[in-house]
Amino acid sequence: MYADVILPVPLDGMFTYSVPPQFEGQVTIGVRVLVPFGRSKTYVGLVSTLHPTLESEISSVKPVLQVLDREPILLPSQLKLWQWISDYYMSPIGDVYKAALPAGLKAEEGYRPKTETYIRLTPNFRNEQTLHIALDMLARAPKQQRCFIDFLALSGWDRISGREVQSRRCEDGSSDDIVEVARDELLNEGHDLPILNQLVKRGILETYEVEVGRLNHGGEPHPENIKRLSAPQEQAYNEILLSMMKHQVTLLHGVTSSGKTEIYIHLIQRELDQHRQVLYLLPEIALTVQMMDRLRRVFGDRLGIYHSKYNDAERVEIWQKQLSGHPYDVILGARSAVFLPFQNLGLVIVDEEHETSYKQQDPAPRYHARSAAIMMASLTSVECRVESGEFATAFESNAAGRPVGNSTLYTLNSKLEPKVLLGTATPSLESYHNAQIGKYGLVELKERHQGVELPEIEVVDIQDLQHRKMMSGPFSPLLLARVREALQRGEQAILFQNRRGYAPMIECKQCGWVPRCEHCDVSLTLHRSMNQLSCHYCGAVYQVPTVCPSCGSGELRTRGYGTEKIEAEVRDIFPEAHISRMDLDTTRSRQAYERIISDFGAGRTNLLIGTQMVSKGLDFDKVSVVGILNADAMLNIPDFRAYEHAFMMMAQVSGRAGRRGSRGLVVLQTRQPRLPIIRQVVHNDYASLYHDLCDERVAFRYPPFCRLVYVYLKHRREALVEGAAMTLGSLLRQWFGARVLGPDKPAVAVVKTLAIRKLMLKLEPGLNMAEVRKYLALARQQLLQDKRYGSLQVYFDVDPL
Ligand code: ADP
Ligand code: ZN
Ligand code: ZN
Repeated sequence: MYADVILPVPLDGMFTYSVPPQFEGQVTIGVRVLVPFGRSKTYVGLVSTLHPTLESEISSVKPVLQVLDREPILLPSQLKLWQWISDYYMSPIGDVYKAALPAGLKAEEGYRPKTETYIRLTPNFRNEQTLHIALDMLARAPKQQRCFIDFLALSGWDRISGREVQSRRCEDGSSDDIVEVARDELLNEGHDLPILNQLVKRGILETYEVEVGRLNHGGEPHPENIKRLSAPQEQAYNEILLSMMKHQVTLLHGVTSSGKTEIYIHLIQRELDQHRQVLYLLPEIALTVQMMDRLRRVFGDRLGIYHSKYNDAERVEIWQKQLSGHPYDVILGARSAVFLPFQNLGLVIVDEEHETSYKQQDPAPRYHARSAAIMMASLTSVECRVESGEFATAFESNAAGRPVGNSTLYTLNSKLEPKVLLGTATPSLESYHNAQIGKYGLVELKERHQGVELPEIEVVDIQDLQHRKMMSGPFSPLLLARVREALQRGEQAILFQNRRGYAPMIECKQCGWVPRCEHCDVSLTLHRSMNQLSCHYCGAVYQVPTVCPSCGSGELRTRGYGTEKIEAEVRDIFPEAHISRMDLDTTRSRQAYERIISDFGAGRTNLLIGTQMVSKGLDFDKVSVVGILNADAMLNIPDFRAYEHAFMMMAQVSGRAGRRGSRGLVVLQTRQPRLPIIRQVVHNDYASLYHDLCDERVAFRYPPFCRLVYVYLKHRREALVEGAAMTLGSLLRQWFGARVLGPDKPAVAVVKTLAIRKLMLKLEPGLNMAEVRKYLALARQQLLQDKRYGSLQVYFDVDPL
């Protein structure tokens, strides 16, 4: 027998090992094995397929060294998801393995479960007759006898006497009848350890170790905490259920604060009532913190939280729990939660589906968690169907309608197929498009809860004000007046500036010299609180120069505004305000993030300054004013998605204003007040934005009207990477013709000392993507055959954001 094993190495394909006779039957699909690799390494690999013979001649097949699991740690559908991600995103499956499994399951010894000592009867004494013998044996050792009697009482012997007694937990963790007691529990009854040890020595009792959960339990579920849906919410809820009967994926487009989360809670409860599980995805870990509290209040310890900031032991434990007979019913998690095993999944909620952080950038696999979730749901459905016992034959197809496998057993009962709900106030163009063409269902919720109006947005032309010398630094008189009024009324304000640090650059007033990163082709950001310059691409930090190294002048000035500088200026203007700042620099720890949110929520602070972090999902009562300090910074980004993202960001941050009670106000500062997108933001006119963007994307052939693949090349030597990119470009043009654009020098063309070139492929719908990927891989392989390109990195970014 031979096993194909997935190894955590960034090489394409799997590796074949022989299965020694003593392991036959133990090496099954989804178990981990220890295997030799290369000259001296051993790895923990995952068995993906088994076959009785070798297909091709492999000269020296090495044997599996050890089998690490008795049961698979991966369900078949998970393995299929890995394979899909590997294929679709053109990443080695080893990279998917690395991303998918918590470290403790990948390393041989990384995870040491915490155990507790338990006691049970030895096999000789597991029936009534022998128990009496034991009690007789102890007649002359009263302490031991009392200890033994207490053990029997605690173990519930009296309740099950008369039967053959078994231990609750066998060595493999499976459970059975209850005749076991935690050692500590027995000692707490006032017995001494030596007395107990005597009973062990006599062969009456035995001790063993049981893994205990580190999982902290969140208490009892409280379904009564579910809020009643309002009439519009109820209608949306019903429409969602209806849509789910027709579509695998439904998009819920509901304005900010319309109660989408309340609807999710009802949908989750509905799944739980039908004994199905729910996966609730959020794009960022920070957001899970708030949502956790909200869901805990309803679902208690039926809710598990899973993301990469949890320590590894906890993640391993959740993984194991999901495989066990008593898994969490609801998992709230970030991106990586799509990799968890689900035995009975009913619904996946992808909240804030538009968020670009759902896409993993680095390292590979560069997957989009929304697409992965949709795929995962459709793969998982196969298992549910097979279990349901009603079979029919059909073709699997993924979200794109492309067959992903051969005929599979299917049931006609579509109710058993896990559904996906995408939720957002500002849909991604891709999802909205899919809804428009009928691939996804669409449900809209156009009013805020209790009819609170969306905020009024006042546009301020800062260029005009600058000419008239009426700006106070980055603030217009209107913004300052509105913030002042809000604070005086005891309300709160949020100021949004999408740049952290003090100033995006400093320069010499005399000669124009600008400090730049030694490793990247970017200017450095000044962080005044830490008194350093830092590179936002590689993280390198530098001292702030006091004189210009180029001309010796001592006059260095800052250019532009980061959140830190905004904060400093706001403190001068509103000395009485309680100000806090939320950006990457102030939220390095989870606690810091939570503190900023809870202080603002409780009114201990009343003026919050922040980057896009403040635009996301925050639900505060008393925010009446939001200031968008510089819309142009978002609009002028040289990327075809700039407007789409700018709209999302502005609509989302505006959505923080006036969520309860009276209507909020947004002051939107821009130099381009007459751009159509500004009007679209003011009227929250997503349909018009969608229309404009579609025109543009059709004309210039961009998603969702074609598929993009970026090809990145990186190397220390610029000349080399340039040459390689040209060569790769012409190789690709042989097959793809005018679909290939570039190579181009990206805006930041050197990062971490590596020079970067980028090629772009625009692939029209209808192309066979499997073929496309084959040729892409082939071109890469051909290029890398050239000895000069030994250390060249070439990778693909499929569906880049
Ligand atoms: P969204 O997710 O659409 O932004 P939320 O679900 O966060 O909206 O709702 C906004 C606020 O209104 C929350 O504080 C929420 O608790 C409250 N809310 C929404 N719907 C209801 C309801 N049916 N009953 C009571 N409160 C509600
Ligand atoms: Zn100078
Ligand atoms: Zn750098």
